[in-house]
Amino acid sequence: MKFDDHFISRVRSSVDIVELIGNYVKLKKSGQNYMALCPFHNEKTPSFSVSGSKQIFKCFGCGVGGDVFQFISQLERLSFPESVEHLAERCGIPMPAQEKTDNRESDRRPRLFQIMKLADEFFREALSDAGAARTYLKDREIGDEIIRQFGLGYAPAGSRLRSKLMGQGFSLDEMAACGLIKRGESGDTYDKFRNRITFPIQDLSGRTIAFGGRSLGDAQPKYLNSPETPLYSKSNSLYGLNLSQSDIRRKDFAILVEGYFDCIVPFQSGVRNMVASLGTSLTHGQVQLLGRYTRNVVVNFDPDSAGVAAATRSIDLFLVQGFHVNVLQLPSGEDPDSFILRHGAEKYNELLVKSSPYLDFLLSLSLAAQKDPLSPKGKQQVVAEIIPYLMKIPNRIERSEYVSRIAEKLRLNEELLILEMRKHSRQIPGHEKPLAPSIQTEGTISENTVLAAVFEERYQERILLQVLPELFEGLRTEGIFKAIFKLRNQKREISVLSLREALGPSDLDLLERVTVESSEGHLTEEAIDGSLSALRRMQINRVSQEIQEAIIREEREGEVSDQLDELLRKKEALRRQHIA
Ligand SMILES: [Zn+2]
Repeated sequence: MKFDDHFISRVRSSVDIVELIGNYVKLKKSGQNYMALCPFHNEKTPSFSVSGSKQIFKCFGCGVGGDVFQFISQLERLSFPESVEHLAERCGIPMPAQEKTDNRESDRRPRLFQIMKLADEFFREALSDAGAARTYLKDREIGDEIIRQFGLGYAPAGSRLRSKLMGQGFSLDEMAACGLIKRGESGDTYDKFRNRITFPIQDLSGRTIAFGGRSLGDAQPKYLNSPETPLYSKSNSLYGLNLSQSDIRRKDFAILVEGYFDCIVPFQSGVRNMVASLGTSLTHGQVQLLGRYTRNVVVNFDPDSAGVAAATRSIDLFLVQGFHVNVLQLPSGEDPDSFILRHGAEKYNELLVKSSPYLDFLLSLSLAAQKDPLSPKGKQQVVAEIIPYLMKIPNRIERSEYVSRIAEKLRLNEELLILEMRKHSRQIPGHEKPLAPSIQTEGTISENTVLAAVFEERYQERILLQVLPELFEGLRTEGIFKAIFKLRNQKREISVLSLREALGPSDLDLLERVTVESSEGHLTEEAIDGSLSALRRMQINRVSQEIQEAIIREEREGEVSDQLDELLRKKEALRRQHIA
């Protein structure tokens, strides 16, 4: 789909950027703007800023910025037309009837979403007739309300879904692209999910993008998942997040579990800040996704050895992205699902409060693995295992607290442990990577101030009347002001958005930074006037320089040109202007 400008600006003006972004990241008011941890890069202190008055966002760390469309397209990995469509749908603006573009992939996605929606409905309906499946869920104490909320369904035997979708005009290729059918060796196709309870996996807007299936009885594998599809990437999805996001944000921590039921059962009994990792191996993308909502997580994997190994791996990923990690270990043999059914949510919450910081968890693992942990050799091995984790604690006070605790547990001299850490840090220089330097080079304060003021309604007219494009000749902001004056000559609105197309990436970056920063509201008449006069002085200096160069040229070539006279007149005029 291609949309005309009118439609695009209608959608844009119907969405409030603060409200939109607030659905994805935790925003904190700061002056007139809102700040958050950037959803597009890893950071520990917020450099992501949203301006409600200008309806733009900007990350001062990684440089991404733009309006509601840029935000949604980068976050949900949508093309520009798709993000327009997405937001239009969100505010209930009907799509204009238009000719299709020849972009196949983006044409295809809406149809794939439609297929997934139909499959979802089909499974949900099938559950009401599936006695065995209902009994199974009842035995696991899954109530009707939670079935509805999580959209549990049932995939019947045979290939009934395939037939249904064919009847609706969808091709086998499209069904295969959704991961709903499989091809046998002889080329025949059949439903991928058969005789299974189905769990829809949804994106953050609640659209079904994949399924998980639990076999009834002993059929193997016990759990079957959708493959990666154009709609679904496992490493960027967390099960349950679309339902738990607001609770996670409110409580400012998430509980990470392994399985579907581990997520659903606690949710049913009121522990709602749950997400499941969709398999044991957590990915960087999943951690990043969770990081939009909180930087605190309690990892509650199964206490078996696979679960412990998975928990240990996940700690690394969380630490790299600046999370506070606790580990909850339930009594042997229990997972969150079984524990809550047996002991109730209250007991679970008690254990949650007592969950141990990850270093205690790792330390006890390490100690348990040693035959004689307090022998010199045992101590040495435990220290070697723990130090890499100690080094990852960014906060020095927290780190030194741990050093004391570990030293005490191992009956070690604290200084010795610190010495070991020093050795370690020399071995891996720069283990904490600094942020990539941003692409732009700054303009002077005066340029930036005047530039910012141009985008303030109360100053715009006055400044553009006072200023000529030559004022910025040779300066960092020259290109931006040229574009501004061009818009003005065309009598078009001057805004960050209208300038987007006219500017290259580094100019755009600078413009976004300057305008978002100025939304903080420290622009004053005085600052603007001071900046204008500084810029004029700079301009006079530039002309003086040109004059000197022209004089040198004349002396060398022994010939008088008109150019020097012209420059001298220009300088005189500027000087007068400046005094006036
Ligand atoms: Zn960023």
